[in-house]
Amino acid sequence: MSVPGSTSSATALARLARIGRTPLATVPTPLHPAPALAAHLGTGVQISIKADDCTGLGLGGNKVRKLEYELDPARLHGVTHLVTAGGPHSNHCRVTAAAAARLGLGCTLVVNGEPEDPGRGNALLHRLLGARIVTVRDREDRDRAMEEEVRRIGAAGGKALAVPIGASTARGAFGYVHAVAEVRDQAGSDGEAPWIFTSSSSGGTLAGLILGCAIFDWRARLVAVSADEPAAWIRGTALRLAMAAAHRLEPDPGAPSGNPHGHGTSGPGAGLANRVRQVAEDAIVTDDLVGAGYGIATREGQEATRLFGTHTGVILDPVYTAKAAAAMIAWLREGRVPAGDNAVFLHTGGHPALFR
Ligand SMILES: *Cc1c(COP(=O)(O)O)cnc(C)c1O
Repeated sequence: MSVPGSTSSATALARLARIGRTPLATVPTPLHPAPALAAHLGTGVQISIKADDCTGLGLGGNKVRKLEYELDPARLHGVTHLVTAGGPHSNHCRVTAAAAARLGLGCTLVVNGEPEDPGRGNALLHRLLGARIVTVRDREDRDRAMEEEVRRIGAAGGKALAVPIGASTARGAFGYVHAVAEVRDQAGSDGEAPWIFTSSSSGGTLAGLILGCAIFDWRARLVAVSADEPAAWIRGTALRLAMAAAHRLEPDPGAPSGNPHGHGTSGPGAGLANRVRQVAEDAIVTDDLVGAGYGIATREGQEATRLFGTHTGVILDPVYTAKAAAAMIAWLREGRVPAGDNAVFLHTGGHPALFR
């Protein structure tokens, strides 16, 4: 990871290097130029694709980087099981089950709703990865069922670590600081900072991108495209997570850190907190491409999937990346990204949804 000139950035990076992390991801992921797509769209914008669908573990995707920090070795001491929750086709559940398998731990997935066919898509992979599946009726039942599982495992003499849904926590956000560092190195330092288009749902990935840009004082323009949640909720959640993560990188432990909004924070860490707030404010968050709702394909997403397939060789998923790519394509067609700029599409994974 390259170290920029700013003292507080260097301090933040040194602190990040001391935060516990279990290596799980195949990184750096490649950044592939997509000149044929740019030519097809007739844009003077240089497009490239950051292949975080290739983070490796359990078919990869953005959850792997987040889990590396969620599964801090210090938190795994004595742990025998991981417990997490999600939908019956959750990418997060798949990667958590894969991490448990790799680490030699048991895994329970609390899943709301029955998959139409448990022999397909992520539902199949959850089972192939050896997870115990506990089905609950509603999303609202998941937290209680997770607590119950943790208790049950404890009563049987084990110890469970509950991984929050999506691994979208302040800790998980650190994972995407590394992705920012990689793109910064791969894009070359000579040009303007790029536009970065990403799919967004629980806000954890965006939080990490915000924190990374703040740490490096890098002026990438972040465009987060919702797969389901309202844009205002995503922005608020990402800001809250990024601020909480920034406070853990606070160089002065004596500085006030209890207030996640950081107003009035003084000392060397205040620079980072202020930059996080600025980057979050400058980020564009849109829910214009959600369509009829989570997991329901849109015409724009289908077109984007066809364009990526035929002009980049990259496969998108219908739930997340198709909608984010549709947003990027719309922006390029509308000339909202100036010619000569770079646009990076962050591929967050999700392929098993194609086969459900
Ligand atoms: C979870 C997920 C996202 C959304 O990431 P968040 O950090 O929850 O915002 C995007 N794409 C894919 C493929 C995912 O699995």
